Amino acid sequence: MSNPSLLILPGDGIGPEVMAEVRKVITWFGDARGLKFDVEEDLVGGAAYDAHGTPLHDDTMAKAQAADAVLLGAVGGPKYDALDFSVKPERGLLRLRKEMDLFANLRPAQCFDALADFSSLKRDVVTGLDIMIVRELTSGVYFGEPRGIFPDNEGGRVGINTQRYTTEEIRRVARAAFELARKRNNKLCSMEKANVMESGILWREEVQWVHDNEYSDVELSHMYADNGAMQLVRWPKQFDVIVTDNLFGDVLSDCAAMLTGSLGMLPSASLGAPMANGRPKAMYEPVHGSAPDITGQGKANPIACILSFAMALRYSFDEGEAATLLETAVQKVLAGGARTADLLGPQGGTAISTTEMGDAIVAALAASQ
Ligand code: NAD
Repeated sequence: MSNPSLLILPGDGIGPEVMAEVRKVITWFGDARGLKFDVEEDLVGGAAYDAHGTPLHDDTMAKAQAADAVLLGAVGGPKYDALDFSVKPERGLLRLRKEMDLFANLRPAQCFDALADFSSLKRDVVTGLDIMIVRELTSGVYFGEPRGIFPDNEGGRVGINTQRYTTEEIRRVARAAFELARKRNNKLCSMEKANVMESGILWREEVQWVHDNEYSDVELSHMYADNGAMQLVRWPKQFDVIVTDNLFGDVLSDCAAMLTGSLGMLPSASLGAPMANGRPKAMYEPVHGSAPDITGQGKANPIACILSFAMALRYSFDEGEAATLLETAVQKVLAGGARTADLLGPQGGTAISTTEMGDAIVAALAASQ
């Protein structure tokens, strides 16, 4: 049997720097645990534009469609700011998400004990925090028609966006969230505004339908999204998995992410429908961008990208044990006091480089054997 395939797209700015550290981790799993991948690397974003005049070549798109999982670094940078919108680096990323139909965006908010003081909330509110927000990514108000800015009848203008969800769009993201809940603590909270929006009423009814007909073993609750925002900062540990629409998910996932401190720590996954081999279409990427202000200085924190690979192990390759091993190695390195510059905080201290952080994580993996 051939190895599972992984397409790596390092992208721009710090993307290649953090991805180089992920490559070390991938090599370690192959050598030490026999967990091998057929890895191919290609260009995306500004790097692809420089080489091909497009932020995503058709051949790369075809490779992404065929891969068991895609791992992306970051795209963009000031060099490309003046480009036409149609060839901007971000278009490469959007094309991948759209053509792979990655409708479920998973954003974990996990607080590493060693970094609990980085959160803007009190230590006891965030210590041990481990929740997952599932955001619908391909529909809702960001895509609904009609949309636009039009003249109104009083000589002014009117701006219109349309919130629109179909039964199937809601059911498929709900299923993804229920599946996740089953792999975690079996609890799902669905958030919408059913009190003021018809699309919210449909959302609530369809999530309930999926629960009653397919996932009645999972504990389901419903919450209005505004209350959800409040509860996330009041007592986030009450949640396990949260599922919500594109707009509310955009806001709530950023809010939850900040519970944990630094942008350099945040992984994400975007999942689509199952492929013929049963694995979901999937792309994994750190939440952060290309960080042009620190590019090429060895200051980038590779942990967000490394934890994105851990998500790939868990959600694409069913290697939950390997994922936990990697997450524990990260935890141990942080507990030992290793910090890239973004993790130093007001007390200061000595920062280690991107490469040193990657090496420390690989050493912690080796020590766990
Ligand atoms: P950014 O996430 O690149 O950086 C924001 C701040 O966080 C910067 O000060 C940066 O140095 C710091 N930072 C980010 N990642 C870090 C890491 N791993 N380690 C240490 N520090 C880190 O956001 P930005 O500055 O608004 O955008 C820069 C470029 O990235 C823009 O071109 C933007 O369009 C693009 N971008 C891309 C993505 C993506 O590829 N998914 C996401 C966001 C922004």
